[in-house]
Amino acid sequence: MKGAPSYRVEHGAAGIWLALPGFGAPHRFGTKGFLSKTNRTIDGTPVVTANQVHKDGILIVDADRRDWGTLQAEASAADADALATAGAGGWIGVTTADCLPLLVHDPDRRVVAAVHAGWRGALMGIATTTMDRLTTRFGSRSNRLEAAIGPHIGVCCFEVGRAVLDLLEARFPGWQRWVERLSEGKGYFNLRAFIREQLAERGVEADRIHAVDLCTRCEADLFSSYRREGRSPQGMLSAVRVP
Ligand SMILES: [Zn+2]
Repeated sequence: MKGAPSYRVEHGAAGIWLALPGFGAPHRFGTKGFLSKTNRTIDGTPVVTANQVHKDGILIVDADRRDWGTLQAEASAADADALATAGAGGWIGVTTADCLPLLVHDPDRRVVAAVHAGWRGALMGIATTTMDRLTTRFGSRSNRLEAAIGPHIGVCCFEVGRAVLDLLEARFPGWQRWVERLSEGKGYFNLRAFIREQLAERGVEADRIHAVDLCTRCEADLFSSYRREGRSPQGMLSAVRVP
């Protein structure tokens, strides 16, 4: 039997996005051109994004204190690569163009998170840090969390050099399992496998981890790609909200 795609393609006024049917919170993995930077709303509801700096900072979006329009304005000036909220009524999101967008949902505590994970943030541990923060701040239990991995650069295209390989080697025993075609000073990094392991390490169950199995660099019609387009591609928005 030929495998069906893991994702659904959906359309709306804002453009085309992908969604993962197994993931329990409303979410959108935007394709190229989904939403404009000047109108960050989905169905009239603000999408809160932060200023992403390739680190492991997490912004808690506290919707008890502010309306979502104010939260949106405040967050856009804050440096953070992950956002989490228990507030209903608004979206939180991250922008990527090859980096990995990770969405997390806790159906028990009704909390969601959106994570921007490039190799820098990933190796800093932003996925595990976010899950730990959900536990300490909201009382989430990792084995109840659901995860959705959006489109990102695949191991087919993600060539990395000495800087990344040295970091992997220094921090992660058995790091070679995430690197293909390893040769003198370069290799191809499997960011998705790395993030999956980080999730599993915290106890997220394999059947609760959903992923879009498309490469942003290969799929030029659908996605923006930093590697394909050069220094400033139009980023793609991935967003999630509390059900
Ligand atoms: Zn590729």
